[in-house]
Amino acid sequence: MKTKAAVVFERSGKFTIDEVEISEPREDEVLVRIAATGICHTDLAGKEQYLPIPPERAFPAVFGHEGAGVVEKAGARVTKVKPGDHVALSWDFCGVCPSCKSGNEAYCDKLFLHNFNGARPDGTSTLRKGDQVIHGSFFCQSSLADFALANERNIVKVRKEIPLEILGPLGCGVRTGAGAVMNTLRPSPGASIAVFGVGPVGMSALLASVVCGCTTIIAVDVIGERLEKAREFGATHTVNANDADPVKAVMDITGGGAEFSLECVGNPKVLRQAVDVLPRLGVCGLLGVVPPGTEVALNMDLIMNGRTVRGVLAGDSVSDLFIPRLLDLYSQGRFPFDKLITFYPFDDINEAVEDMVHGRVIKPVVRM
Ligand SMILES: [Zn+2]
Ligand SMILES: [Zn+2]
Repeated sequence: MKTKAAVVFERSGKFTIDEVEISEPREDEVLVRIAATGICHTDLAGKEQYLPIPPERAFPAVFGHEGAGVVEKAGARVTKVKPGDHVALSWDFCGVCPSCKSGNEAYCDKLFLHNFNGARPDGTSTLRKGDQVIHGSFFCQSSLADFALANERNIVKVRKEIPLEILGPLGCGVRTGAGAVMNTLRPSPGASIAVFGVGPVGMSALLASVVCGCTTIIAVDVIGERLEKAREFGATHTVNANDADPVKAVMDITGGGAEFSLECVGNPKVLRQAVDVLPRLGVCGLLGVVPPGTEVALNMDLIMNGRTVRGVLAGDSVSDLFIPRLLDLYSQGRFPFDKLITFYPFDDINEAVEDMVHGRVIKPVVRM
């Protein structure tokens, strides 16, 4: 069948709305009519060819990995959903490796094969335009399109009373920030936390810090508008790292260090700061994405004194369990992640990207 999709024809190219053909779902696949899709920096990393997608399957490509929509068709072996069900799409995983078997799907041994192969794991393509293969299966969805093919594994069924168009970001950015706090750091009520970088991931971490009962919640960023917004999301203090030494500022606010910190920027200097603000036994979660091979200089003596640096993917969460939990919190008004979103018509996708890159919006979502 045919679908409208945002195709990137070459490295660093713009998104071009085009009509392509999408395959019928295989027996374990689900065809989803996409309602809306969030745009994340990882889509742009794919566009710039920074991801480990095999070069021969890099372009032309359809990206998009924060989709949500309605099940149009389900393969014969699919039991999780049926046509008409509302779903949020997330990352894919193999389901059989030791990480997956132990409930740590975000650390799947075959993460790249299932998310960054430019095709299904077996190398077959789901999209084409006439004779030309279009590379898809990005995060097993390529959801910057009217229709997307996902696997039963990477879809989460959601209640119909929740607006579909806000759900996409739960599958990546929101889950990453909230899960790092709720599943990895697990601060006790009354704890202090410093979040470095308050884009969509950092803002979600702020919301989760409120849910966990943190009483000192410090947002550190270099964009003043974002810091103002951070207050709405629960920050009790803000630090503009352009105006003040963030380590000293956090030390002053907390009177000796933030028990927890998060690096949501992907910058070795910022990671150093996020570790340097910890008191003894403090834990720093690393969420920021950096190019492979990036190194960081840390104070070994400081770490020796009981401090921990912990990398976190996808908020250490099992999407089928965690996304419904976040939605329960949302329904109770305790996790208003929808306030992160600015909507755009699908045709204005390049404008949405520009606004995100320049920090004018936090989480752009295109409506199909
Ligand atoms: Zn696995
Ligand atoms: Zn993402």
